[in-house]
Amino acid sequence: MAEFTGKSVCKGVAIGRIKFYSQQENTVVREKVDDASAEQTRYEQARDKAIEELNALYEKAVTTVGEDNAEIFNVHAMMLEDEDYNDSVSSIIAGQQVNAEYAVATTGDNFAEMFASMEDEYFKARSADVKDISERVIRILTGKENSNDIGEEPVIIIAEDLAPSETVQMDKSKLLAFVTRLGSSNSHTAILARTMNIPAMVGTPIDKAFDGKMGIVDGYEGKLIVDPSADVLEIYFAKKKADDEKKALLQELKGQENVTKSGKKINLYANIGNPGDLGAVLANDAGGIGLFRSEFLYLGSEDFPTEEAQFQAYKKVLETMGSKKVIIRTLDIGADKQVDYFGLEKEENPALGYRAIRICLTRPEIFRTQLRALYRASAYGNLAIMYPMIISVSEVLQIKEISKSVREELISEGIKVGEVEEGIMIETPAAAVMSDELAKHVDFFSIGTNDLTQYTLAIDRQNEKLDVFYNAHHPALLRLIKMVADNGHKEGIWTGICGELGADTTLTEEFIKMGIDELSVSPGAVLSVRKAIRECE
Ligand code: PEP
Ligand code: MG
Repeated sequence: MAEFTGKSVCKGVAIGRIKFYSQQENTVVREKVDDASAEQTRYEQARDKAIEELNALYEKAVTTVGEDNAEIFNVHAMMLEDEDYNDSVSSIIAGQQVNAEYAVATTGDNFAEMFASMEDEYFKARSADVKDISERVIRILTGKENSNDIGEEPVIIIAEDLAPSETVQMDKSKLLAFVTRLGSSNSHTAILARTMNIPAMVGTPIDKAFDGKMGIVDGYEGKLIVDPSADVLEIYFAKKKADDEKKALLQELKGQENVTKSGKKINLYANIGNPGDLGAVLANDAGGIGLFRSEFLYLGSEDFPTEEAQFQAYKKVLETMGSKKVIIRTLDIGADKQVDYFGLEKEENPALGYRAIRICLTRPEIFRTQLRALYRASAYGNLAIMYPMIISVSEVLQIKEISKSVREELISEGIKVGEVEEGIMIETPAAAVMSDELAKHVDFFSIGTNDLTQYTLAIDRQNEKLDVFYNAHHPALLRLIKMVADNGHKEGIWTGICGELGADTTLTEEFIKMGIDELSVSPGAVLSVRKAIRECE
């Protein structure tokens, strides 16, 4: 038995087998071969297997994310059958007498470059696809397993690090816990773990040798135990039982109001990443959705999600929530949330870089597609839209002009749209300081404390070394929150908190005193925050 400590980012106890997750590294070496025709056969077999995998993925995806989103797997399968692609691989193998891996990698690079240089946006986007299919064939040729596939049995995932795009593609029903060596408590992978309500730790010394062993994750104490003794296992089975019972007790708060002892009511909503999280929202009795991080739809797909695919996802959330409010945040891609098909350049300071609304305002075709899907979906429930990373009034005016024109366009097409509140996230000190002016142009404020803390304290939320300096209760931050709520109220608009700090029950009373009107937290935290509200004076 061995015990390791790390930083807990989601409480709870998990007991199960450990699976080491490694990012795929397909470093390809050029090798001369004696028998080119044997190499050609190896290639054809790997290609056929890749097509089989893609067909299976398509079938699985149709049932989980719908036909439109699944279509990408069909496109990939077709690309692998493309004559030009196959001719290129074969001629490199035969012409240069080299290994199939090298021929596939070179073809992939050449085709990706060719697509990337095309004018047409559709073809440009195929650049990432051709790389993707080539990686798949190379992985099969080198006999590596598909590391996104975590197998049948639920497992504790250990990894050096996990990108949000990797986490979002894992089958959630098979995850017992996450443990990573890197990552900070406010990274999106940590947030994702909290949304799924599974125990998670970062900053833990993991080792590939743990793979396949029995493990315990204690998200209360920040402990990973590998190969536990029978005694320790017994202790943890009891701890897990007590934990489950505590959670069951909280269930008694379902159906109760979020009201303080003196009668002040506040709205308590949940944060989600995709429609798959709705079950947890309903199970925890949230009063609405306070933050739907729509970029997870983009992170979970291999190409820009179409207007129709987005519409279906938003409609599903709105219909499920009925008359309850659903606040969907427009695309917040960039910084730690990267997707190849956006073709974003590497930046020196990604958190201060080209992200969120900055992308939307400079690539209006992406923004308009999302807004069309949102307004179409607005006819099916109680939708509010909010915009991330705002720094100035002029951005808000620009956004409102675009959203108005999208709305009018839909109406002129005879499409029904509902009444939609439009708000902004307060995530930058600039927005907090300008909140008196901003309040004149929007229907609500939602404070994103994760980014507001990062920018106010000048602490990169991704950098685990800075966790010791990251004071989530810093007075500068609390003053800004109060200032935003006051400025909002002066203009008659409401203010909520949708960052992770909203779930910090040691601050619930202070937030209520500041006049915060809404808290939006991960679904698993809803009932404990309700308990805290009900205990406030
Ligand atoms: C925030 O910054 O607090 C927020 C809610 O947005 P995200 O964590 O997705 O950046
Ligand atoms: Mg943010």
